[in-house]
Amino acid sequence: MKQPQKPTAKQITEKSEEAMIEGILEGSPDGIGVVVVRLDCGCRKMAAVDKNGDPASKVIMYRDNALTICDQCQKDNGAFARVVAEFIHWVKPAPDEATQRTINAKVLGTHTTH
Ligand SMILES: [Zn+2]
Repeated sequence: MKQPQKPTAKQITEKSEEAMIEGILEGSPDGIGVVVVRLDCGCRKMAAVDKNGDPASKVIMYRDNALTICDQCQKDNGAFARVVAEFIHWVKPAPDEATQRTINAKVLGTHTTH
């Protein structure tokens, strides 16, 4: 039996994230995508990127159903060691694959340790 190819779970934006992404893009006319970073505590970090992979908004941190981010995040500002998933949500139509790769490397590749 052939199973339909499922996208990996971490690349699907959740409903609450989509609302945030829309809000960020509204305030960032140059944004062609939004970097979504999920932390192990449940907080999120997001920021818009422009077509060059440069920041198109300031970094926004939030926590679902909470007025503030958690104590841990207030202390370490969402340390990279606690990141459980990160990806870019592209504005439709998404840029071509080469551009996506370039921006991915620039945005997500810069703070990996290897
Ligand atoms: Zn947190």
